[in-house]
Amino acid sequence: MHLTIVSASSLPRSAVKPAVDPATLVYKELRRDEFWRKIPAYAEVSTETFHDSLWQSKHSITKVEKLLTALQDLVAPAFLEDAANGFLRAPMSVRVSPYLLSLIDWENPIEDPLRRQFIPLASTLLPDHPCLHLDSLHEQVDAPVAGLTHRYPDKALFLPLTTCPVYCRFCTRSYAVGIDTDKVEKVGMGTQENRWAQAFAYIASRPELEDIVVSGGDAYNLRAAQITQIADTLLAMPNIRRLRFATKGPAVMPQKILHDVAWREALCGAVEKGRKLHKEVVLHTHFNHPNEITGITQDAMNLLFFRGVTVRNQTVLQRGVNDSVETMTLLVKRLGHINVQPYYVYMHDLVQGVEDLRTTLDTALHIEKHVRGATAGFHTPTFVVDAPGGGGKRDVHSYEHYDRETGISVFSSPAVKKGESYLYYDPLHALSEVARRRWEDEAERQIMTDNAVLRAERRER
Ligand code: SF4
Repeated sequence: MHLTIVSASSLPRSAVKPAVDPATLVYKELRRDEFWRKIPAYAEVSTETFHDSLWQSKHSITKVEKLLTALQDLVAPAFLEDAANGFLRAPMSVRVSPYLLSLIDWENPIEDPLRRQFIPLASTLLPDHPCLHLDSLHEQVDAPVAGLTHRYPDKALFLPLTTCPVYCRFCTRSYAVGIDTDKVEKVGMGTQENRWAQAFAYIASRPELEDIVVSGGDAYNLRAAQITQIADTLLAMPNIRRLRFATKGPAVMPQKILHDVAWREALCGAVEKGRKLHKEVVLHTHFNHPNEITGITQDAMNLLFFRGVTVRNQTVLQRGVNDSVETMTLLVKRLGHINVQPYYVYMHDLVQGVEDLRTTLDTALHIEKHVRGATAGFHTPTFVVDAPGGGGKRDVHSYEHYDRETGISVFSSPAVKKGESYLYYDPLHALSEVARRRWEDEAERQIMTDNAVLRAERRER
């Protein structure tokens, strides 16, 4: 075959992409400074100590008094008072690692995207949507045994524990995860030994189950021996082909992967064991903002990549955190840069006490259009709604009907529950004054809902 070599200078101008200024490729810029030293309580903390995940756990912020001790005069007293009231009114327990705390911009904590996710402020809280339920995804309804949700034909969600290295204000599983708060008494899951045995017995008894998500709570809080026990038990089942350990750890305490050798080796051991059996074991994680990714994260992800561990990311679309084309594109590119595959971007579930963080389906459609094409397709996340009521994940574009005025979108999920309609609701703060008033009236709510379902049945998108 004869190949003609075309030099760049002989190409028509329109065919040549102009070179990009390397200074604009900011997704490659990962901070490697001692950023924690600006927090008064950590000013003298050495790199070695800051990298110790036990130190990170022990010094995590769980009470407003600890926040005050850590920050001292870095923030105004009014902010701490606002936070104290926020802690009292939050349905979710608060737990923030020193790593996360140090990445917050304390010159502008109100707007900071990490503060918004983890530290509640009473002044920013908004009333919940009237259609919100505590377990909005009906995980307990679809649970044949406590802590095991079987919704999709071939996949189940196993929740071996209810604790996490940090607690996210927006946790979908706030009905069970974390400790009781003034607002929510958590659902008890029973004793671990019994529950795990029942879950394993159920999984083994269902030949159609091939894929198990081990979530929680958070797999970071499983002991190394427990990771091995779960992996060995599930991989030994002939029906099981795929396991995913889900953890927010890399986003909130990446040091553990570098320095908790026992935990890391248990994970890598499970991946290697799976590979020998021709079964897939991967890690799923949860970055929401590019500021959560530092040089420490890159070192941790490099280590896992070297050991052949696939890491995929699930993001939650949140107002004031990542609801712009620029931020989401930067996040997707930065994840790709550290070998983490951007897998899903979720519409924010209808969760108690975080209406200020939710945004509209229209915002997701807009951002998705701009992110798609910014990088390779296999590094482009699918934007989904986890359909309230247990419909499972639906592509945001697949709505049967969407009324931007009332904020109601209707989805169907034929492979999960044929014939059912699932409704997602935009937050009231994003609607017109007229629509907000209609939502205040129960009869009007019913009319809007019935009308949306009817129009979905008529396929009026
Ligand atoms: S780490 Fe996951 S399970 Fe834990 S609080 Fe955050 S979202 Fe919920």
